Amino acid sequence: MADPILEVHDLRVTFDTEGGLVPAVDGIDFAVAPGKTLAIVGESGSGKSVSSAAVMGILPSNAEVKGEVLLDGRELVGLPDDELRKIRGNDIALVFQDALSALNPYYTVGWQVAEAYRLHHAVSKKAAFKRAVELLDKVGIPDAARRAKSYPHEFSGGMRQRVVIAMALVNNPRVLIADEPTTALDVTVQAQIMQLLADVQEEFGTALVLISHDLGVVAEVADDVLVMYAGRAAERGTVRDLFYRAAHPYSLGLLGAMPRIDVPPKPRLTTIPGSPPSPGSIKTGCPFQPRCAYTERVGERCITERPELTPRPGEGDHEAACHLGRRPEVVS
Ligand code: SF4
Repeated sequence: MADPILEVHDLRVTFDTEGGLVPAVDGIDFAVAPGKTLAIVGESGSGKSVSSAAVMGILPSNAEVKGEVLLDGRELVGLPDDELRKIRGNDIALVFQDALSALNPYYTVGWQVAEAYRLHHAVSKKAAFKRAVELLDKVGIPDAARRAKSYPHEFSGGMRQRVVIAMALVNNPRVLIADEPTTALDVTVQAQIMQLLADVQEEFGTALVLISHDLGVVAEVADDVLVMYAGRAAERGTVRDLFYRAAHPYSLGLLGAMPRIDVPPKPRLTTIPGSPPSPGSIKTGCPFQPRCAYTERVGERCITERPELTPRPGEGDHEAACHLGRRPEVVS
């Protein structure tokens, strides 16, 4: 496999709030190689979006980031703002989930894509606009030269998301982070946007970090998966490891909550009981313990000892953070 273009080691993010220090991400590791897709999955509050914001260096000032974020071997944590600004949008770009708030309603979409280009290239407005039209065309905006002069509200949700992707791609980034890029879109448009990202990846060899809670999308596009729970890694492996050999009860819960067309429909989907803990509230033991259907099989250790990511014997790089020795079977 090619060397990773982005490596994250022991990433920790703590917010300094009025209620004290709140750990949102508690020591995660991941890597993604050119042309590959890593999906980071988990419920809201699992730390997946905070992790991507930490990689981009766009967290608010009350956040403290520790660990390593290496882009092609260059450390990004602690870089001065002006250095980070040169990298952001140029080497690493972010596709937001909410295209409407990512775009300025007062400027035409062509102008906005062109300005994203001019931030990193000393070119004339005319040349930047030409580049913007080229990108809008590439992401499938029909009649791009004319539509570039339209405003965001004149586009449908799916077309706006294409504009946001054009803006993210205008500088040919080596890493694209897409945070729930299809959440607000209907299923057909979702599929079109994911296909667009796959096409872009193939053409430019872009590494993609996909933040998602939608395992259907993950199954379609990811090579590797990191499952996050309460700011920590619950499981990590290839997409096949997750879908065929899930080893963490939380991953099994996510899979059980996923609608399937290959099995007869259940009267209602299985859900994971309870809700995720608030960040930092579980000091000892396994953060998933209050919701776990397997804790009785392990006993006290689930409450007293925090499970660390451990390789699954004979399963390559597949790892899970769970005290259960053998693979859990589905409990309904
Ligand atoms: Fe469940 Fe215990 Fe495994 Fe945590 S360590 S997921 S509580 S079995």
